[in-house]
Amino acid sequence: MTRIAIIGGGISGLAAAFALEPHRLSGTLDYTLYEASPHLGGVLRTERIQDCIVEAGPDSFITEKPWASELCRALGLTDQLIGSNDAARKTYILVDGRLVPMPDGLMFMVPTKILPTAFSPLFSWTTKLRMARELLHPPQPASADESVASFVERHYGAEMVDRLADPLLSGIYGGEAASLSVRAVLPRFAEMERTRRSLGRAMLAAKKKSPVHAAAPPLFTSLKNGMQQLVETVVPKLNPLSLLTNTPVQSIHPEANNKRWQVAVPSRTDHFDSIILALPAPAAASVLSIASPELSGELASIPYGSSITVALAYGHKVRHSLPPGFGFLVPRSEGKRLLAATFVHNKFPHRAPENLALLRCFFAGSNAENLWQLSDDALVATVRNELQQILGLRATPLFARVYKWKSAMAQYGVGHLERLDRIDRLRRQLPGLALAGNAYRGIGVPDCIRSGQDAAQQLLSLSAGSA
Ligand SMILES: Cc1cc2nc3c(=O)[nH]c(=O)nc-3n(C[C@H](O)[C@H](O)[C@H](O)COP(=O)(O)OP(=O)(O)OC[C@H]3O[C@@H](n4cnc5c(N)ncnc54)[C@H](O)[C@@H]3O)c2cc1C
Repeated sequence: MTRIAIIGGGISGLAAAFALEPHRLSGTLDYTLYEASPHLGGVLRTERIQDCIVEAGPDSFITEKPWASELCRALGLTDQLIGSNDAARKTYILVDGRLVPMPDGLMFMVPTKILPTAFSPLFSWTTKLRMARELLHPPQPASADESVASFVERHYGAEMVDRLADPLLSGIYGGEAASLSVRAVLPRFAEMERTRRSLGRAMLAAKKKSPVHAAAPPLFTSLKNGMQQLVETVVPKLNPLSLLTNTPVQSIHPEANNKRWQVAVPSRTDHFDSIILALPAPAAASVLSIASPELSGELASIPYGSSITVALAYGHKVRHSLPPGFGFLVPRSEGKRLLAATFVHNKFPHRAPENLALLRCFFAGSNAENLWQLSDDALVATVRNELQQILGLRATPLFARVYKWKSAMAQYGVGHLERLDRIDRLRRQLPGLALAGNAYRGIGVPDCIRSGQDAAQQLLSLSAGSA
């Protein structure tokens, strides 16, 4: 019987285990999942506080990427899926201390409706003229990968980088547009430039082609009881004897004949035919450091950023005083430490009672690092001070919770795709090793799920080939 080790019990590792489970039940293989911490699910963690559903890590996933919804359906969670309340979707950007709504028709940073953008105070006239000029005289396509900042600046100028591209991407990757790779992070835009040169023209053409939906699907999907519901549903469907929590893997080594693997944990060494390494890249680099210093070096060079989320709940007066919409983003140039805040009660109304306001505030990148040593109370005070400046919010929260995530978000730097090619080449030299997680081809929950499923499939094909 084939024996597979899954290392890492976040959603990537759990998705891999769920894909292997039917094969375990049919008796063709066995797997063991090693998780260093006492909990499964990694950064997916939800708390229920005063009837609020408080997300410590991710709060939802992009509906357009199907793998998370598909997994939920396979787990019997179809009736638990909820969509974001897009009727109330409005996002503000802080500009010169004022919250300015993003104009209607803006697809990331590309305008698809002329009037709302032309009249929006979000952009100066210089940027608006750049947008018009981009349609007629787009820049030359780049011949190599470049940063998102440089790509966006070539098309729309520096103000667009500061006010939109940088805060939008920092909210997802915790990194800066100046260091993220456009080909890895915005492949659709890089492709638009390659094929049509003008992003504006490409977006308008795509819009014309897309069917007019009576009801477009919601932008974000989540679960009624929070993202941890996914973990709590998948875990009981796995073999409990296969799940080893509090078991950090120290190292993995191929055995002398290169056909089997050793997995070293503090008290013993276990033996397997193949391995799914479903770890953040720095941890994967560490367990591989002796087996393949070269692969380990490539993995170690994928930068990771830290983030801090702070949940704050307020009474009905605050709820009615907040602007309508999903929340706001803060460009770096505003000199604040907060990167974003979500008005959870508007985005997912089921997550707070009707008389409460629930805010989820987010620090990332260097701001998160600089605030890391602060106590929870000091962090809450920092958030409250900035919310007072931005929203005029002086009320005392009913409760506050701080969640810190050290080096949890992969940053796909310029040249990331080339690095992935090198990683793949080195991985192939280690038969029976598959990689999954947020370091590779997508940081969001759906991409992580897909990565775990693909890794399982890769090893299943391998064992079918050698059978
Ligand atoms: C604050 C925050 C907000 C986010 N928001 C969203 C969002 O709204 N939507 C979205 O789609 N994505 C979001 N993401 C991204 C997404 O949640 C993550 O990329 C994804 O969940 C990562 O899953 P994973 O299993 O690959 O890694 P992780 O969840 O990091 O799991 C890895 C696991 O490996 C374990 N481990 C580490 N070392 C070892 C070892 N040596 N041996 C054994 N186990 C080990 C860890 O304890 C951990 O449990 C967010 C991320 C963060 C941090």
